[in-house]
Amino acid sequence: MSKEHGNLSINSQNIFPIIKKWMYSDHDIFYRELVSNACDAITKLKKLSMIGEYEAPDDIEYKVEIKLSAKDKTIKIIDNGIGMTKEEVDEYINQIAFSGAEAFLEKYKDKANDDQIIGHFGLGFYSAFMVADQVTIDTLSFKDGAESVHWSCDGGTEYDISEGTKTTPGTEITLYLNEDSYEFANEYKAKEVLDKYCSFMPVPIFVTNEDAGEQTEEIPEEEVTEKDTVLDTFIKDAVTEEVEKEDGTKETVEKVPAKKMAKIVKRPVAINDIHPLWTKHPNECSDEDYKEFYRKVFHDYKEPLFWIHLNMDYPFNLKGILYFPKINTEYESIEGTIKLYNNQVFVADNIKEVIPEFLLLLKGVIDCPDLPLNVSRSALQNDGFVKKISDYITKKVADKLSGMCKTDKENYEKYWDDINPFIKFGCLKDEKFAEKMNDYIIFKNLDGKYLTLKECLEENKEKHENTVFYVTDEVEQSQYINMFKNEGIDAVILTHNIDQPFITNMESKNENLKFKRIDADLSDSFKEETSKDELKDMTEKLSKTFKDALGKENLTVNVEKLNDSSISSMITLSEESRRMQDMMKMYGMAGMDPNMFGAEGQTLVLNANNDLVKYVAEHADGENTKIICEQLYDLAMLSHAPLSPEQMTGFIARSNKIMELLAK
Ligand code: ADP
Ligand code: MG
Repeated sequence: MSKEHGNLSINSQNIFPIIKKWMYSDHDIFYRELVSNACDAITKLKKLSMIGEYEAPDDIEYKVEIKLSAKDKTIKIIDNGIGMTKEEVDEYINQIAFSGAEAFLEKYKDKANDDQIIGHFGLGFYSAFMVADQVTIDTLSFKDGAESVHWSCDGGTEYDISEGTKTTPGTEITLYLNEDSYEFANEYKAKEVLDKYCSFMPVPIFVTNEDAGEQTEEIPEEEVTEKDTVLDTFIKDAVTEEVEKEDGTKETVEKVPAKKMAKIVKRPVAINDIHPLWTKHPNECSDEDYKEFYRKVFHDYKEPLFWIHLNMDYPFNLKGILYFPKINTEYESIEGTIKLYNNQVFVADNIKEVIPEFLLLLKGVIDCPDLPLNVSRSALQNDGFVKKISDYITKKVADKLSGMCKTDKENYEKYWDDINPFIKFGCLKDEKFAEKMNDYIIFKNLDGKYLTLKECLEENKEKHENTVFYVTDEVEQSQYINMFKNEGIDAVILTHNIDQPFITNMESKNENLKFKRIDADLSDSFKEETSKDELKDMTEKLSKTFKDALGKENLTVNVEKLNDSSISSMITLSEESRRMQDMMKMYGMAGMDPNMFGAEGQTLVLNANNDLVKYVAEHADGENTKIICEQLYDLAMLSHAPLSPEQMTGFIARSNKIMELLAK
């Protein structure tokens, strides 16, 4: 072969600085590109050999080797795959890649630097120039009579191509690292990067540190195989121990017998798992397999609750495993990770253009070989195919959850506390998911039983059609809870932040459905029927007395004859007003005094059957009336919302004073 000097025909000056700047924000990605090319080359050769187009040597062991030398500042990536002829180097490396580069530049020259591009863009090989000043390729095609080729390029627009020295098919890429990238030849750094991108690539990958010299290990001689290089054999002495016999004399006993050992050149260990769990059929995987895979990939030692194995060939190819992690914190801090793969090559974490947003709360892996990765994220977003993938995943998750609710209710209930924020978030984010899950949302009632929406409505059907009462704080609202229990009315417990937006959403999806917090109004069940005028007088009197005592001109006072005479006072706040106030608090007014919105919509309910209330009604000017009014109001407030610091201080001081009065 004659030596050739060529020009990478591209009309711009030197494109490499531009590639470096624009292509990937993470320089370490060159490892992914070059190692995946090496794997591709092997996969291709294996296919050719399978269909009889290539006769592989019997003892061939397909593998990718990565040889590092921090001393020489080089990285070699070696495969025994398909290799390239001179013509192929010309076509795939000199030309094709550059047309890719041109298209790339055309498209991205005006874009901001942070518009991250996922995937290849036909530029994979050239990512080497992000970290190397000079790159060489030594390659020999598998084809009969092919000549070995040596290609070299120093990152300018010129390359040299000449006869190479390779004698077996495959390709060896050598990177002469640039000043900023020496770290990639460091064994630990390299392994860290490879672990990220190459953990599940389909061909065994071996890493050796060329500077470290020969590594050895000692194994029992009988375990030596033909492949091992034996450096030495020796006898490992028996392990003995002195023990005292019954008669007091000592005896030496053999604990471990002597053993023939061999010192061998350390056996290489592949850094990757070429058959990751998601590529297997669900029938072949045990629970322990799933748990182990979870631990390994997510470094989470808490066991996942359960998982979904996605396995689809038609109309597109998608495999993966989604885990529901155990959580005990509020939903804001749930942090999932969905790792996206393309034919076992890691692409990126949490690509929200492909994975529905709410699923990012889960942990999982998704491998979709059909994904068009050579486009930008913004293009992915508008891709109909991507939407289909995302819909499919959503549907599978809903199927799994509804199936579990139907056939494994016990576990479903057990997991509910952990998974409900996720499901509710999903319902808020995804119409279809909400529709599918509507009948499988369950609510814990006052007896700790789980009910579906239908069952909840059934419970209160007679007196409160279409209404579900709920509790947001079991301690604060205990007085109301007791009243409900006494009257045999049910309520459900909804203590999570997401519950408020969620029930609003559910109401909009289920006609006539109304959620009411347990203190929203006093239902007729709790009070005696009274004629219109019966309490009119008392109401007027009490209203004036309380307004004066509390200095609250706008206070609404309502007098009722409650069945339970031990109850003196309560606060009710209509559901609408409360939700409005909650919403205002949420939008930037968090942390403010919950009472700052005044008594808006609040009603002080006084029980005409209660002795203290009767006393106040009859003693508007009594010596202690003011103090009693204030105390009755605070007691009612306590079961409704937390008191402000000033209110609490006042309440405690007054309570002390009342006890003093008692003692006198
Ligand atoms: P892509 O992998 O997307 O095709 P690359 O720039 O990574 O783009 O590689 C360009 C082409 O160069 C590949 O399609 C392949 O034909 C060839 N190539 C790259 N690396 C190797 C290799 N290790 N062995 C054989 N061919 C290779
Ligand atoms: Mg490639």
